[in-house]
Amino acid sequence: MIKKLDIEGRGMTSQRTRDRLITLLKNKGITDERVLSIMRRVPRHLFMDEAMASRSYENTALPIGHGQTISQPYTVARMTELLIQESLPENVLEVGTGSGYQAAILGGLVKKLHTVEVIPELYKNARDLLYNLGYRNIHPHLSDGSWGWINEAPYDAIIVTAAPEKIPNSLLQQLEIGGTMVIPVGQQNKTQQLQSIHRLSEDGYKTNTHEFVQFVPFVTK
Ligand code: SAH
Repeated sequence: MIKKLDIEGRGMTSQRTRDRLITLLKNKGITDERVLSIMRRVPRHLFMDEAMASRSYENTALPIGHGQTISQPYTVARMTELLIQESLPENVLEVGTGSGYQAAILGGLVKKLHTVEVIPELYKNARDLLYNLGYRNIHPHLSDGSWGWINEAPYDAIIVTAAPEKIPNSLLQQLEIGGTMVIPVGQQNKTQQLQSIHRLSEDGYKTNTHEFVQFVPFVTK
């Protein structure tokens, strides 16, 4: 449980470092003002262990326990930019809640976000943190995201923050026609590449490939 005072106190002391991170993101090519503005506001240090907090505005992925990582800020910015590029989605699915940071970024931009995590502890931490930070449009679920989250499908945007070798069919099916999915695809310890997929029709998908990335594996049971 986080006290309000903690959030404000720690947030204020890191506003300057957060501003520096925004400059870095701009220099690396992030141009979407909506993304830059929300990343300036969300206190990334609250989404990681206090021992790591001093490094929270560096542009690196950091451990969050259970062998998982909070994504690099550039990657979060880039994936968000790609996801909202065409139009601002309203009903979004994230697979891989992890720390909840990417969820918080999206929660500040879109109407409704469903986020699915397969590790119970991570799910609980992120759920409590996001609630305590005041998000009421983010709905965390403990589930295997290979199945998507059928209850609220279809989604006009889907973001996957773990890398499968092949995109699960249920995720493709739960994407609305006209919708966009952003996902890293590839083998572990080999090349993974960010893809954005647009669903054009019932069976028609168009894939664009972007930069190389490194994500933790997408678990399939
Ligand atoms: N978006 C997160 C990134 C966390 S790392 C953040 O901002 O911190 C990726 C997460 O995906 C891990 O927590 C991992 O447990 C989760 N994951 C991997 N495979 C999954 C699956 N099939 N369903 C749900 N979550 C999965």
